[in-house]
Amino acid sequence: MKQMDTKWMHPAVQITKIITRIYRNGMTTTSGGNISIMDENGDIWVTPSAVDKGSLTPDDVICVKANGKISGKHKPSSEFPFHKAIYETRPDIKAVVHAHPPALVSFSIVRKIPDTNIIPQAKYICGPIGYAPYEIPGSEALGQNIANEFEKGYMAVIMENHGMVLGGSDLMDAYTRFETLEFCARTIINAKAIGKPHFLSDEQIEIFETQVPHDIPRNFESDYPPDELAIREEICNIVRRSCDQGLMISSYGTVSVRWKNDDFLITPSNVARWDIQPEDIVQVRNGKAETGKTPSRAMFMHQNIYRENPEVNSIILTQPPNLMAFGCTDVKFDVRTIPESWIFLQDVPKVPFGKQLRGDLTIPKLLSANIPAVFIANDSFIVTGDKLLQTFDRLEVAEFSAKSLVMAAPLGTMVPISDGQIEGLRKMFLQ
Ligand code: 13P
Ligand code: ZN
Repeated sequence: MKQMDTKWMHPAVQITKIITRIYRNGMTTTSGGNISIMDENGDIWVTPSAVDKGSLTPDDVICVKANGKISGKHKPSSEFPFHKAIYETRPDIKAVVHAHPPALVSFSIVRKIPDTNIIPQAKYICGPIGYAPYEIPGSEALGQNIANEFEKGYMAVIMENHGMVLGGSDLMDAYTRFETLEFCARTIINAKAIGKPHFLSDEQIEIFETQVPHDIPRNFESDYPPDELAIREEICNIVRRSCDQGLMISSYGTVSVRWKNDDFLITPSNVARWDIQPEDIVQVRNGKAETGKTPSRAMFMHQNIYRENPEVNSIILTQPPNLMAFGCTDVKFDVRTIPESWIFLQDVPKVPFGKQLRGDLTIPKLLSANIPAVFIANDSFIVTGDKLLQTFDRLEVAEFSAKSLVMAAPLGTMVPISDGQIEGLRKMFLQ
């Protein structure tokens, strides 16, 4: 996956950027978690111990030299022993992320490992997951338990009654693995709160993996007129906003906007979403893409949605963890919760996994003025609309509704708005 270009970014800057992101996304506390990078010289850059993770700056980051000399204005992380043990065991690992994200901690305290076959991309992004038995934080013994797991080849290890630790070829790689795994954990927990989650078979995941449209014709250079550039900017803003609001993760999600007739602009395949740039966006004209870029594997479906639905001018496909609880179970997503939800979404059908694949017209034909959104089982939630901001608003309303339903599960049975009340809404808002 193309990640944020860190080549020109000092390790301390990378560390600050990622720990801030982890903190803002509710995946660590002020005191919890630590991050490190090993540079070309074998020096390890690491977050300081017990310094506010929500407001770290690059000059808070500590450097532990290969010869053991420490430079910086604080003490290095108390978990430095396990970071060091991982680098010693695995020369291919150049960055380590550790935190106590709530959903993965839930797994660590019931001593289970999340099954990443819950969504299609997670199996390969996360890899198989190891399990390190409990030891006292900061101890050499904990370092040994964790290094033993990494020695088996794992890139992601659950720390019993503690949290999660992930390795990566660089920091973005480790972060992507971390974020994807936490979303898997949240999805499984939310799904179990409302029903029984289904998981993808390995065969289904292999089919998904072969879908990237490397073979589509790419034989024109765009001349980037101003209206086209405006769409690029708009797509990037919505992708970043979706990531900031917990509606999208770096490893999955597609946004497109119709440009002229059935031509459109769409997010690329295999580019980390939250750092996407206007030049990454791919123009698709007459079924052909711009030279040198690979559009999202969802391109064919987007193309057919625009062809079949003249009223649709923008599409978002993503995996928010409350909506995906419905996407991964047989439980119906009943939007007759509050007027806003029903008005924005009406009824949301679910199609089996596979209906999103190249050439299938099920979803393009299912969508209509009254059906703006569809679930693809174990894959995603697709939402359509006119302006991109309107489509984004629908996505937010949908995820809020799903969250209310998940949170209502332990409270009691939902009482939907009645048919008569729905008719009232239909007359007032939809005609
Ligand atoms: P530090 O602040 O020392 O890195 O400790 C945080 C933590 O998560 C310990 O396991
Ligand atoms: Zn910890």
